[in-house]
Amino acid sequence: MAKDYYGVLGLTPGASDADIKKAYRRMARDLHPDVNPDPGAKDRFHEVQLAYEALTDPDKRRIVDLGGDPFDTSPGGGMGSPFTGAGFGGLGDIMDAFFGGGGAAARGPRSRTRAGRDALIPVELDLDETVFGTTKDITVDTAVLCTTCSGAGTAPGTHPATCTTCSGRGEVQSVQRGLLGQVVTSRTCPTCAGTGQVIPDPCPQCGGDGRVRARRTIPVKIPAGVEDGMRIRLTGHGEVGPGGGPAGDLYVEVHERPHPVFTRDGEDLHCRVTLPMTSAALGTTLTLDTLDGEADLDIKPGTQSGSVLTLRGQGAPRLRATGRGNLVVHVEVQTPTRLDPEQEKLLRELAALRGEDQPESHREAQGGLFSRVRDAFNGR
Ligand SMILES: [Zn+2]
Ligand SMILES: [Zn+2]
Repeated sequence: MAKDYYGVLGLTPGASDADIKKAYRRMARDLHPDVNPDPGAKDRFHEVQLAYEALTDPDKRRIVDLGGDPFDTSPGGGMGSPFTGAGFGGLGDIMDAFFGGGGAAARGPRSRTRAGRDALIPVELDLDETVFGTTKDITVDTAVLCTTCSGAGTAPGTHPATCTTCSGRGEVQSVQRGLLGQVVTSRTCPTCAGTGQVIPDPCPQCGGDGRVRARRTIPVKIPAGVEDGMRIRLTGHGEVGPGGGPAGDLYVEVHERPHPVFTRDGEDLHCRVTLPMTSAALGTTLTLDTLDGEADLDIKPGTQSGSVLTLRGQGAPRLRATGRGNLVVHVEVQTPTRLDPEQEKLLRELAALRGEDQPESHREAQGGLFSRVRDAFNGR
């Protein structure tokens, strides 16, 4: 049976928050191990603390009021199905088989109310949304508390009844004669799934589950600086548990859409600009469309292809620190193609002026690599 948390504090269901506080203070004062040397006081003090916690947390108190135990962490609670009846259900059953069900007394019926599962929803975001943050309406299709029965699962005006298969114990025993003599096997009651109770008149809205599927839209705040694959947790926005148990959490997973210009590397953004050879040689000022608006990009005379220019603080904000990353601009210099006769003539003149029209000058441009290799071969 679920613990009588009201009884522990000397209260009855429906006690006000003030009553609970008052009863707790009075009993804690009497039972505190520092003032009460009685050996049983420590255990009682612990019970009182537990009851206080169960009745002052709204989620936990709702479970108590539904006949459940908010601290019940029995594994697979209520997962019993008619199929578990075949063979042994687990170690406990094996122990029972050998020791005549001695371990069964500690179990008792389990609560029908259990915690809900977490939910995961992906959200597609553009780069400016992950960089600057935004608020997105997320549609969640999940289990919510049934408003007709408030999670109890019973039709209005009716109550759960004690399971007749197990007489409310939550488990059934079968006796067999075997080699070791009489063998008693305990297993979860298949009728009530171990809760010790059945619902004769299920709620018409939820069929007795205490929750219904519903679609709702909630605004989700996306913090600035989130990255692809990160999850934002919304506590208590997941699935409501069976029997109206506390809801799990909702995780919103960020999926960042590729941007046509910028790629993201953590807090840094990267982009590529292509320059005509002449602008790279003479220098110029480019106007760059950044996420923050237009920015002037100063190209120094003699800029090489593959150069990198860094705009500090124009990247993505740091999620767990202050400041922003950088915008890294990769410069690509374009070699002119499809020269008309006049352009070709000008380029040849330029080449002649710079002494770049002789085959030897190419060798020089290699930085003397060929001659160094030759020297190495000749042992110099
Ligand atoms: Zn219902
Ligand atoms: Zn039963």
